[in-house]
Amino acid sequence: MTERDEGDRLTETDVLVVGGGVVGCCAAYYLARWGVDVAVIDRDGINGQASGVNAGSLHLMTVSRFFKSRDPLWVAGRNRLLPLVKAAVETWRELAGEVDRDIELVLDGGLMVAETEGQLRMLEEKAEEERSHGLNVDVVTGSDLGTIAPYVSDSVIGAAFCAKEGKVNPILATGAVARGAERAGARFLQGTELLALETDGAGFEARTSRGDIRCHRVIDAAGAGAGAVAAMVGVRLPIESHARHMNVTEAAPPLIKHLVQHSDRMLSMKQAARGNVVIGGGWPAAFDTATGRPDVIKKSIKGNLGVARSVVPGLGPLRLLRTWAGMLTLTPDGDAILGEVPGVPGFYLAVPPNPGFTGAPICGRLLAERIAGKSTTFDLEAFSVERF
Ligand SMILES: Cc1cc2nc3c(=O)[nH]c(=O)nc-3n(C[C@H](O)[C@H](O)[C@H](O)COP(=O)(O)OP(=O)(O)OC[C@H]3O[C@@H](n4cnc5c(N)ncnc54)[C@H](O)[C@@H]3O)c2cc1C
Repeated sequence: MTERDEGDRLTETDVLVVGGGVVGCCAAYYLARWGVDVAVIDRDGINGQASGVNAGSLHLMTVSRFFKSRDPLWVAGRNRLLPLVKAAVETWRELAGEVDRDIELVLDGGLMVAETEGQLRMLEEKAEEERSHGLNVDVVTGSDLGTIAPYVSDSVIGAAFCAKEGKVNPILATGAVARGAERAGARFLQGTELLALETDGAGFEARTSRGDIRCHRVIDAAGAGAGAVAAMVGVRLPIESHARHMNVTEAAPPLIKHLVQHSDRMLSMKQAARGNVVIGGGWPAAFDTATGRPDVIKKSIKGNLGVARSVVPGLGPLRLLRTWAGMLTLTPDGDAILGEVPGVPGFYLAVPPNPGFTGAPICGRLLAERIAGKSTTFDLEAFSVERF
């Protein structure tokens, strides 16, 4: 990626994207390809935060705890989310065919497993709702389950199966999209922090750690920092960030074909292209206020691996290679917050849904469509921050 020195300093752009995570890079990718002058700044490096440390799961099925909620905010959020993530996975598929390297996209399907009759009933109800939104989900038990997923433990009595779920390698994907954006004309400035944003109605003066940048529009794709960026123009963004834990085992021969989640326990796992098994599912990590970075806690290593091994006994002999933590940003209804903020012309929010890595390309694309004056494939107003 471009690293500019003082002599080559960026002073002006049409669209300034704050945040070089997957959302900001996808927005820049589409904008640049559609001829819009765009620059991305990141206080860190490209893909240095959540986008580079996540589990790489492409989720379509509704998370159980969202489904169980009767809160009207959550119900509306999850209903909007289903079509969005379906479009997102399609966008990942297109992107995988366009970028300059293999991003290890595999759509072999996902399983959400049940170990009790109650969990299985919940999955059946959930699958019915998912099917009503056009997402094909089957609940499989007995020999059907054994045929699809011979690797799961006898304690698993059934599972919801969605053939379109899958995975992408998060270490490779965002960089590949960023390079595509750069080739199309987007400029990238790493180590450049947005410190303040001033607007005069006709545009913005972005005060950064490497000088001022004049721009017409700003996309706030700052992940866990998006609230602080929004606050610079007086917008309250109701998001929360939590430190979350991940593990990866040594490489093993093919064992787990699918993305595997649990219907009631914190688990998501998959086997990466090189054979390593990536295990997560929302186990907590600590947040070190001194370094401003998340940090692993031992209890989560034990707890997460314990659930993983109880669902896939074949993991037993595999050694743990590495653990890490990242900041997961959540919205109050699980859905994306997108679009121009009423009252702040030219200021666009780009907060992906939960699941954010899954949803990122469609979020970036929708904003780019709006800014480039194309017809948008979704009604962006439905994702407005005004709903809170
Ligand atoms: C452990 C973990 C596992 C996850 N697993 C999955 C998964 O399997 N599937 C899934 O769909 N989602 C998953 N997620 C969620 C997903 O990773 C995030 O939703 C997504 O990566 C968010 O992308 P982003 O571009 O919005 O944010 P980020 O990747 O965090 O990028 C934001 C960027 O903004 C920069 N920035 C912030 N403030 C400023 C500023 N003032 N000036 C300049 N730059 C700034 C940061 O340095 C950062 O690079 C997981 C998250 C975590 C933490």
